[in-house]
Amino acid sequence: MACNEDKSSEEPKEDLAEQVEKEKIIEFGFDQSLYEFKRDTIKKGDTFGIILERHNIGYPKIFQIAEKAKDTFDIATKLQVGKPYTLLYSKENANDSIQKPTTFIYQQNLEDYVVIDFKDSIQAYTKTKPITYVEKTATGIIENNISETLEKQGLSQVLAYKMADDIYAWTIDFRRLMPGDRFKVIYTDKYINDSIYAGVHDVKAAYFEHNGDSLYAFQFETDSIKGIQDYFNEKAKNLRRAFLKMPVKFGRLSSRYNLKRRIAYYGNRVRPHKGTDFAAPVGTPIMATANGTVIESTRRGGNGKYVKIRHNATYSTQYLHMKAQNVKKGQYVKQGDIIGWVGMTGNTAGPHVCYRFWKNGKQVDPFKQKLPEAEPISDSLKVKYLDYIKPIKKRLDEIFFIETQAKETENTITEDPITDIQ
Ligand SMILES: [Zn+2]
Repeated sequence: MACNEDKSSEEPKEDLAEQVEKEKIIEFGFDQSLYEFKRDTIKKGDTFGIILERHNIGYPKIFQIAEKAKDTFDIATKLQVGKPYTLLYSKENANDSIQKPTTFIYQQNLEDYVVIDFKDSIQAYTKTKPITYVEKTATGIIENNISETLEKQGLSQVLAYKMADDIYAWTIDFRRLMPGDRFKVIYTDKYINDSIYAGVHDVKAAYFEHNGDSLYAFQFETDSIKGIQDYFNEKAKNLRRAFLKMPVKFGRLSSRYNLKRRIAYYGNRVRPHKGTDFAAPVGTPIMATANGTVIESTRRGGNGKYVKIRHNATYSTQYLHMKAQNVKKGQYVKQGDIIGWVGMTGNTAGPHVCYRFWKNGKQVDPFKQKLPEAEPISDSLKVKYLDYIKPIKKRLDEIFFIETQAKETENTITEDPITDIQ
């Protein structure tokens, strides 16, 4: 209901269907009235040679084809089990006693395919099916969680991932959404050949009401050469922070920064914990939480194997108890780069990464920091940006929320007991 297709895609379909009937049907660039299409999928043990041999092509010819095609597509190694292929048979030769295909078409994925044509001369080329993007809008009101809100409307969960991981990862904790929180999105869906739905492509703009805050997000390209896109709010502030919230993707916060921690093992005396522990299985990748230079990658005492990164004059971060490091001293790393793997080296009772956040030479609680904004929009682009978002913001503002009917269900809000991150 709340998913409205853009008006431009609504065209009268009847006339079109009649025209199509009279028109040639072309698939993979071949006319269906001239060729018979035999479709199959690559089976275990299939090779290009075996398939053609099975269809009455002799070996000298197969070698000749493979040799000519190899610059375009190495048929000896690249056929993957389960992928579709099509053999074309010319209808001109329909009365021949031995039927031989003229063309082999292999589909690497939904979009790309390889044609090996050996009807007359041997030709091999790769092609891409035409892709169209359809702009759509959607709204939702949270009752229990965002997945359920999307599912009720038949909307893709990818919208939730995009909003939670790419757009609002630093500003909204999606595990703590409240009933009544609501959102609007303008996004594009991808279609192949106008007909095959290939999922949500991109979110162009979003609006989220959470905890009394209204958060706008607009996608904008800040570097067309490098193709860098980020989300900014209506005042051109970057929604991303310079630091990731945690150095592991799926980790459980097992011990917070706590200067008054008491541990029974130490006679219940205060043993401050200046790190933040994330429990995760041995081997889980550990990511640099921000761009910076590795200043230590070594093994020492209770720290075990660890890496320390200097981000700027103010901030450094440190990652302890690694199984192994993946970076060397002096190396420059980017946010999200894998710098090592979770282990149990040094003093630790179980596999975890102890994340230490240094500000001006002192260890502080990363969750209590107002972290700096990532790469702000340049002054020269700011005017352009504000101009660019004006009509998009207007569109967002004009989308109405559609109240989904209040249902009497026994849904209880289940709290995830193992997450404790703000
Ligand atoms: Zn720790």
